[in-house]
Amino acid sequence: MPSIERETLPVDVLIVGAGPAGLACAYHVKQLLARKAAESQKLPEVEIMVLEKGREIGAHSLSGAVMDPRGIAELIPDFLERGFPVERYCENDAVFRLTKTGKFKLPWTPPPLQNHGYPIVSLNRVVKWLGEQVEEAGIIVAAEMPGQELLIEDHRVTGVVTGDKGLNKNGERKSNFEPGAIIEAKVTVLAEGTRGSLTKQAVETLKLGNHNSQTYVLGVKEVWELPKPIAENGTVFHSMGYPLGNLFGGSWIYTMRENLLSLGLVTDLSYENPYTDPHDNFQKFKAHPWVASLLEGGKMVGYGAKTIPEGGWYAIPRGYHHGLLIIGDAGGFLNSQRLKGIHLAIKSGMLAAETIVEGIVRGDFSRDTMCSLQTRVEASWIQKELWPVRNFHQSFEKGVRVGMIHAAAQFISKGRGFKAQMPSRENHEHMRHVRELGLPDRDEVLQKRAGEYDGKLTFDKLTDVYNSRTMHEEDQPVHLHVSDPEICRTRCREEFGNPCQFFCPAGVYEMVPDEERGGVKLQINFSNCVHCKTCDIMDPYKIITWVPPEGGGGPVYTDL
Ligand code: SF4
Repeated sequence: MPSIERETLPVDVLIVGAGPAGLACAYHVKQLLARKAAESQKLPEVEIMVLEKGREIGAHSLSGAVMDPRGIAELIPDFLERGFPVERYCENDAVFRLTKTGKFKLPWTPPPLQNHGYPIVSLNRVVKWLGEQVEEAGIIVAAEMPGQELLIEDHRVTGVVTGDKGLNKNGERKSNFEPGAIIEAKVTVLAEGTRGSLTKQAVETLKLGNHNSQTYVLGVKEVWELPKPIAENGTVFHSMGYPLGNLFGGSWIYTMRENLLSLGLVTDLSYENPYTDPHDNFQKFKAHPWVASLLEGGKMVGYGAKTIPEGGWYAIPRGYHHGLLIIGDAGGFLNSQRLKGIHLAIKSGMLAAETIVEGIVRGDFSRDTMCSLQTRVEASWIQKELWPVRNFHQSFEKGVRVGMIHAAAQFISKGRGFKAQMPSRENHEHMRHVRELGLPDRDEVLQKRAGEYDGKLTFDKLTDVYNSRTMHEEDQPVHLHVSDPEICRTRCREEFGNPCQFFCPAGVYEMVPDEERGGVKLQINFSNCVHCKTCDIMDPYKIITWVPPEGGGGPVYTDL
């Protein structure tokens, strides 16, 4: 194939990802430069560019979410006057322990889950609003433009290559072919969100890893429209127990504006049973008599799924290098005990902005200047919030019962617990062989589960994907790279029962009859992919790599 000629666009600051972290970073750079100009400090013109792989700003943003407003209040103090979209304010919160058919309300809400007065939001709407503020500030946000490859020259990050458009499924040019551009930047900020593909490349190539590898949970969410709201005020329910048993995770139920209800379930990906299916867990949760009664007469109007980086302080990669900063979920800034990360994403974006402006003033974006991001994080409330929960998520790798003992010890000792620095293993390393666990035949399990969904309260994956408004151009190269599909039909089938059929919340992976060779082969229904990244994390042989598809592909979340 002829080599591709690419246009080169030079910018000063390139931000990959228009989520809360990336947009906050862009906005704050502009703010800080304006303040410097007001102080008559002469600085060169600074061009900032934000890349977004989704069809529009916010299309790929999904969260619960009850937001700690601290970050946004620092970034835009008059955010409410400027129309920040609040669904409701939390006036009532409660935590439940669920059994298969019953529930027990905890007599008090544990402090990390107390949300009284906090805004309940749709992250998708928040990000759209933040995008408007950024564009009004004169910053270019380029939608449908994924960062495909990180450019590294002599250990220095120099920008990214954006994705090509108009390639067919064999990688050949179609009539509408548009080559991706080389965007050269003095500093590149990775704000791609959870398990960012460029962040993964940077961490591996530049050896930015921390003591622990990042670990994840998977959140599966639906929005329902009800005949009448379950409460007139802002209500925030969390639950643990059924259907997860001893596995870490839990549910949320939040009232939104009018008759809308946000509900979802988080399943820890450090599970042993390869038939664990976070989407199915969520369906079981909805079928619980209490939850079913809340949803009675309602209609599901939105679906989404996303992994969440919960590894904590010791899993945050070194977020700086020559010409590089890493922020938000891509950087692992999330408090898993409070189930919150939006405020940390915004704050990390602001601290990155301060670091960038320091670089502009010094005319230096080398590691010597970029490392001050770390100093800023350590001096900020990010460190104060995350340090006391530094060992929290690792404690639950062996289940909730053991985890609660550790968590109690950590609470008393301000985060230390029984071990100063608790190690963790990558999620997929926990998975055990089918035979070892004495599991039944995978196909019977899949069939039985599919037969349990009634299409009214509980849904199969394809119905849910339809409600995520996911679309991809069908004639393009598959964006889920499986380096050795032979493993799927042989070893993986035998040892783990093809767990991709279970963990993918969008039904992308299917084992279908192999007409030519007999047996089965892997079929990848890539156009269903909701970009949650679970497969990149959970494939037990590390043969799946998620890369961005053609720009604009993926879900178009609304109210998620
Ligand atoms: Fe998530 Fe991978 Fe399935 Fe896409 S293919 S929805 S990234 S698990």
